[in-house]
Amino acid sequence: MITTATPETKTPTQEFIEYTEIFGTPNYKPLPVVISEAKGVWVKNPEGCKYLDMLSSYSALNHGHRHPAIIKALIDQAKKVTLVSRAFHSDQLGLFLKELSDLTGFGRSLPMNSGTEAVETAIKTARKWGYIKKGLPQGQAEIIVAANNFHGRTVTIVSFSTDEQYRKDFGPLTPGFKVVPFGDAEAIKSAITPNTVAFLVEPIQAEAGILMPPPGYFQKVREICTRNNVLFMLDEIQTGMGRTGKMFAFEHEGVRPDVLILGKALGGGAMPVSAVCASSEILGVYQPGDHGSTFGGNPLACAVARAAIRILKEENLVERSAQMGEYLMNKLRTLKSGYIKEIRGRGLLIGIELHAAAGGARRFCEALMHRGVLCKETHEHVIRLAPPLVITEKEIDWAFSRLKKVLGT
Ligand SMILES: *Cc1c(COP(=O)(O)O)cnc(C)c1O
Repeated sequence: MITTATPETKTPTQEFIEYTEIFGTPNYKPLPVVISEAKGVWVKNPEGCKYLDMLSSYSALNHGHRHPAIIKALIDQAKKVTLVSRAFHSDQLGLFLKELSDLTGFGRSLPMNSGTEAVETAIKTARKWGYIKKGLPQGQAEIIVAANNFHGRTVTIVSFSTDEQYRKDFGPLTPGFKVVPFGDAEAIKSAITPNTVAFLVEPIQAEAGILMPPPGYFQKVREICTRNNVLFMLDEIQTGMGRTGKMFAFEHEGVRPDVLILGKALGGGAMPVSAVCASSEILGVYQPGDHGSTFGGNPLACAVARAAIRILKEENLVERSAQMGEYLMNKLRTLKSGYIKEIRGRGLLIGIELHAAAGGARRFCEALMHRGVLCKETHEHVIRLAPPLVITEKEIDWAFSRLKKVLGT
């Protein structure tokens, strides 16, 4: 029984939030807005108020909400077959893997569902590769990661987080990881031992507050990994699929990783779809039964992901991301706000870092919400702007005028 408020005085929004707070688990602190409908860059609450989505579900909605071709692929496939498990083949899985290989240039992929699962899969891949190809003694494989990383929330992945809150109370943790500062290639060199199998890193640390690496960092990383026979594994779950103005963020750096991890927008904002992409030599270490997932690579997910890949190309969303990102960035740079410490980003992945004296980014996100713009604070002091790549100049102008009011000219 709910007895906390009189039903007739509650709006639908209040009611849905209350249900979530009473019956859910308090592991999130969402902005107090309920989204019950969405199309493109716009979302609507149950009372019919419209908001511009400047978060895109952390870049899972690069194509915008309910892109017609993605919804069509979803519905068409739902009428044929949705799940076969990997006990059998499906037409969609084969086509998806082929098209993903054409997109990434990697010979093989291993499909999973969530991004976290793909990172776990990459870790298992690197370890297995180390035992089979480098002949390491069992149980000794080491993986180097960067400080301030975000790769997901399983016990193994939080074991190498440097965010105390992610690890505390969740031990015992998984051993076999070494942390080096992000952006410091020399530190990787010193951390490598004969047992090192991989260096796992994000091209831009988005969850940490849109932290950019120094120029030339990834070229040095590539060199060090190659010289030491260590796999360079890039987590592009958030930066991939056009977000930064290139299909993949590694294209900005002029290097290719050995292992590419994709998720989020690969599912077109409609299905959880993730994948680990690498060469035949690397993913070829698996044998039947070594690893798997009931839903990984299911035909419904594959049909949606195929549409997601096709639309990025057909609608030139990668170029759009670069153009609209530049347009938004140039506007933001004109802001004369005493609150702003730094603005940084690439393509349509932009962080506005506020001075500590501004009192945290949360209240600005709440003020923006009241003016119809949805974005989210990232850590304490950063406002992340990551709208769907289909956003127009006019819509950016609309959002910018509100940002300008809230951040104070
Ligand atoms: C979101 C994200 C993940 C985790 O993906 P989920 O789908 O939430 O499991 C991992 N790495 C990066 C860089 C991410 O942004």
